Amino acid sequence: KRRIAMMTSGGDSPGMNGAIRAVVRMGIEKGCEVYCVYEGYEGLVQGHNFIRKFEWPEVRGWLSEGGTLIGTARCMAFYERPGRLKAAKNLVINGIDALIICGGDGSLTGADKFRAEWPGLLKELVETKELTAEQIEPFKHLNIVGLVGSIDNDMSGTDATIGCFSALGRICEMVDYIEATASSHSRAFVIEVMGRHCGWLALMAGVATGADFVFIPEKPRAENWKEEMLSIHRKIGKRKTIVIVAEGAHDQEGNKISPEMIKDLLANKQGLALDTRITTLGHVQRGGSACAYDRYLSTLQGVEAVKAVLDATPETPTPFIAINENKITRKPLVQAVLDTKEVAKAIEARDFDKAMSLRDTEFHM
Ligand code: ADP
Repeated sequence: KRRIAMMTSGGDSPGMNGAIRAVVRMGIEKGCEVYCVYEGYEGLVQGHNFIRKFEWPEVRGWLSEGGTLIGTARCMAFYERPGRLKAAKNLVINGIDALIICGGDGSLTGADKFRAEWPGLLKELVETKELTAEQIEPFKHLNIVGLVGSIDNDMSGTDATIGCFSALGRICEMVDYIEATASSHSRAFVIEVMGRHCGWLALMAGVATGADFVFIPEKPRAENWKEEMLSIHRKIGKRKTIVIVAEGAHDQEGNKISPEMIKDLLANKQGLALDTRITTLGHVQRGGSACAYDRYLSTLQGVEAVKAVLDATPETPTPFIAINENKITRKPLVQAVLDTKEVAKAIEARDFDKAMSLRDTEFHM
């Protein structure tokens, strides 16, 4: 029987459990044995109890659960070759030659590197007598398939990542709560949302809540944003002001725009003198149950990931499962990771037109 392992890695996101459930059940349906690796790459490096076979009923009820029930971690050892040697040995002794990983671009980069090194790792394990030539004989190739789990929607090549719509929903819900109190007291609120290099959450939340101002990394506001902010409010005499700031927001010179800076501006006694509060949404954005879209996306993509494992040949480049214009697709992982890094580089180089053009269509507003 073919043995497949499923793992979650990097930052958690709602919908990861749906992906695990889909992989476990589709794998079993296709006649495979499915193993789960606990605690991301840490579990792969440690082996033993961290790698466990799953049966059909064990993932019952997992579809709606937030976070990941098999744990995730950041693992320093996997960045180094000795850690990856241990991971390779643990897969071989468990008879596993296919790995489906749900994580961000870091996790998926690590996975592709692992696959590329695989023959060399096994050779070294035999040379150092950790494994015998007979043991490695059936494991010539390692199949890797990526699923993108991220609340930031920061991966190029896919319209949505598993978790981003749950986080967006959570942000909108929180802004709704804030709006009522803001309006009652005529207050201004500066709300910081997640997204280091990616303004998708901030931008979409701005549209969905009708916020007054949005600050995102890909497109800093024109130099006169302060005047703009002050004059608009004077003209229309609003009762509430909602500003949404992505945690990676900065001005055109690359200086960070912090919620405190915006608060100081709005609260300035010589200016608008607005009673201004800051709310950092923080980890509530990651938590809670997965929304309907993430349940559906993780299920369809988990099913596709198992199919991609079974179709793979040694020549197939490592795929990841995407969604493009509502179709579940398989795409080359390496290109998507490179494109994702390009956006971050363009932002750093202050080439904002390029950063925007590399993002998906919703950004072209
Ligand atoms: P994310 O997957 O959410 O982007 P990280 O970048 O922290 O999160 O990656 C998660 C884990 O993946 C790391 O702790 C590390 O174990 C592994 N990893 C990330 N990048 C690499 C890499 N270039 N080489 C090997 N392992 C990596």
